[in-house]
Amino acid sequence: MVIKTIEKLRETLATARRENKTIGFVPTMGFLHEGHLSLIRKANEENDLVVVSIFVNPTQFGPNEDFETYPRNIEQDTTLANEAGADIIFNPSATEIYPIGSSSWVNVEGDITSVLCGASRPTHFQGVTTVVNILFNIVKPHRAYFGQKDAQQAAVLTKMVQDLHIDLELVVCSIVREADGLALSSRNTYLSSEERKQALILNQSLLKANEAYKKGETDTKTLTKLIKDTINTMPLATIDYVSIYSYPALQEIEKIETPAIIAVAVKFGKTRLIDNILLENSK
Ligand code: AMP
Repeated sequence: MVIKTIEKLRETLATARRENKTIGFVPTMGFLHEGHLSLIRKANEENDLVVVSIFVNPTQFGPNEDFETYPRNIEQDTTLANEAGADIIFNPSATEIYPIGSSSWVNVEGDITSVLCGASRPTHFQGVTTVVNILFNIVKPHRAYFGQKDAQQAAVLTKMVQDLHIDLELVVCSIVREADGLALSSRNTYLSSEERKQALILNQSLLKANEAYKKGETDTKTLTKLIKDTINTMPLATIDYVSIYSYPALQEIEKIETPAIIAVAVKFGKTRLIDNILLENSK
């Protein structure tokens, strides 16, 4: 069932709640792929009712970013989401979420939002935390599902849920990759075939760093250089950042102390891709 208004969604969910059904929620911007579907399947396993939102959120895009051209296909998304176990697809308009005159923001402050993607996209996380908060207030889920693909987003939202005492369980699911290692992303559709080939270097460079770490290299500068040098072997790659931080606090570290994250953002032509690997107690 596709629902476009907050009123109708609230009415439908009130009935489910009266029947003591648990609600799982998967927020997305649509153009669904296996990464999104893995979250929907998990939500379906763990809850009685699954709500998937499909909303390309204007407030998380910067002025020169790809809001207008972001891929959209609600018919295909509806079919895929239903097959994966969604009961309700919430597909509101921008004015439904942000009525004229709305002027409230939710901000998570500190390093967690100012490093990595927060440094390259200064208004991005404010847009994410605001829309996710709005969606949580509308859906009031028992559990909400996010991907480790957007590791900083998962960390920021986990902190928001803690800080604001939001009464739900936030579940973070592993990164889904293509067979050749490229992390699935709606933005992969922008890549030319040559860019797509060269983009494999993201995952490859992370794996190489992980190998070096497992062999005993814990100096973050050395590991960062190893990744940068590897990515720079690809002529179409322009590095935005390669960084290693503690996770989930995203504090600078000189030596790896687990859990840590290696996160990369690299542009291929106009397409900016992100990827990451978590270093846990694997030694
Ligand atoms: P998006 O539509 O890009 O906003 O993504 C919606 C949700 O799907 C976010 O929680 C993402 O982290 C998650 N997601 C996107 N790509 C992947 C992937 N390759 N593996 C796992 N989760 C993903």
